[in-house]
Amino acid sequence: MKTILKYYRKYWYLILISLAFLTGEAICELQLPSYMSGLLNDGVGASDMAVIWSYGWKMILLSLTACVCAVTVGFLSSLIGAKVARDLRFEVFSKVMNFAGEEYNKFSVASLITRSTNDITQIQTLTIFTLRLIMFAPIMGIGGSVMAVKYSGGIGSLAWVIVVAILVIVILIALALTIVQPKFSKMQKQIDKVNQIAVDELSGMMVIRAFNTQKHEEERFENANADLTRTSLFTSRLMAMLIPIMTIVMNGIMLMIVWIFSQHIEDFSQIANMVAFMQYALQVIMSFMIISMIFIILPRAKVSIVRVSEVLTTEVSIKNAEGKDEPTGERFKGDVKFENVSYGYGGGALAVENITFEAKSGQVTALIGSTGSGKSTVVSLLPRLMDVTEGKITIDGVDIRDINIKDLRNNIGFVPQKNILFSGDIASNVGYGLENFTQEDLQKAVDIAQASEFINYDEKGFEREISQGGANVSGGQKQRLAIARAISKNAPIYVFDDSFSALDFKTDAKLRQALAEEMGEACVIIVAQRVGTIKNADKIIVLDDGKIVGEGKHQDLLKTCKTYLDIAKSQLSEEELSL
Ligand code: ADP
Ligand code: MG
Repeated sequence: MKTILKYYRKYWYLILISLAFLTGEAICELQLPSYMSGLLNDGVGASDMAVIWSYGWKMILLSLTACVCAVTVGFLSSLIGAKVARDLRFEVFSKVMNFAGEEYNKFSVASLITRSTNDITQIQTLTIFTLRLIMFAPIMGIGGSVMAVKYSGGIGSLAWVIVVAILVIVILIALALTIVQPKFSKMQKQIDKVNQIAVDELSGMMVIRAFNTQKHEEERFENANADLTRTSLFTSRLMAMLIPIMTIVMNGIMLMIVWIFSQHIEDFSQIANMVAFMQYALQVIMSFMIISMIFIILPRAKVSIVRVSEVLTTEVSIKNAEGKDEPTGERFKGDVKFENVSYGYGGGALAVENITFEAKSGQVTALIGSTGSGKSTVVSLLPRLMDVTEGKITIDGVDIRDINIKDLRNNIGFVPQKNILFSGDIASNVGYGLENFTQEDLQKAVDIAQASEFINYDEKGFEREISQGGANVSGGQKQRLAIARAISKNAPIYVFDDSFSALDFKTDAKLRQALAEEMGEACVIIVAQRVGTIKNADKIIVLDDGKIVGEGKHQDLLKTCKTYLDIAKSQLSEEELSL
């Protein structure tokens, strides 16, 4: 609650102005019935046209003022609601940008989408409703009661009518609330589910088609959709039923009032009293209805408030060390050292264990091992995509946790195993992450990455469109663009996670040669599956089941490391092995 309230502080002056207009509206409305009574009593009762006119003008003026106030309040409350929602969305989004894998797992992407859209909309609705009505109801309730007593004509039983009416309404709403309340939190979870399935299916459309599972997926979506529909129908039906019931209660009360008054009417003034009393009674009951309504909306919004605050208050696990909040723009030499590093996903079983090795600048260090042996995990630890569970990683002797994260990542050209391109054109993708770049920078990067051929093949060249996720380029082209993107950073450290697997052997060889020529003093870490890709590396590290089982050059490893020999045997011919 507190986390969210903070976002209203900025708009305190708007809130104050809105409340002022609200009070104005309430005062005007409280005046109207008493003028009505005066008009009837002094004007109609005395058949005095001048008095009728004077009351009439005042009433018109009051109504107009109330109207202007109401419109202003409506405008201001919507404005505040929209502004707070915008701020919240922005804040949630920036927070999520800093999430590490662990935090994503905690929430799931679908839930994060619901939280930053639907849940924030709920908060927006509550804001508007509260600003519009929360002050209005108490003023009308208290003011209306005072005025009602004044016009009750000394009839005591009238007070009872109002008290009973309020009790009936409060009980009705409380009843509805206890039934509906649990459904609201269920509903948000069901929206999460629908979102998740939609995201799942839309991104996996190709697989769904290829396996002809449309029917199954449709059913999956339909089930989640039907669940959500059921819950929301249930709650809206119950809420819809409240309104006619309320109307019946209100009309019954009006009848009661007329009936009670009818037994006491002796002169015209009593009729004037009755008219005013009825209006005030209505205002009092209405204000109680509004207050109860808040109790209906609040629980629903509360679910959303909690869900949004959860995101905002989540401690981001990867953060800067104390006093390192500002990037200094420093550039490293690039000597990387892993010392007894272990890591377990989500704090669970260790995926990699006791990893110790050095990757020097000016050298190529290769990681090889079967799938699932922990290669990606090891290299992801370097740019702090996650933090080591045990041990430490240093660059030029400095623990990476003591380096500003921005500086750290600026110094690493990283090509992840799963390449993602962004919608835009080739230039914006290759120059991604650079503050400014020239055509030559891009050209050099794509030349090294062996991407210039297919870029130049298309007459649009660098302006060629890339669709979302890079869906309109082939796997190998995507890999080369991702490599070019990393190279264009001109960093002292490069990490290629299985970045050559989708390339044909010829391109693979050419790319490695260009890398060797151009990388100079950089520290290059290559993860590969193919022995051919890394044969010439200065150092090869063999991983098996999360542990290092061999380290050295190709020729030595063939003799000393059985795992490496097995991998090599499965890929190379006898002659190549004995070379
Ligand atoms: P490689 O890159 O060598 O194929 P990975 O480093 O991707 O292997 O995976 C090593 C181990 O960690 C595997 O057993 C895999 O199941 C596990 N793993 C990888 N990513 C995650 C993740 N995000 N959450 C939990 N476990 C993971
Ligand atoms: Mg991998």
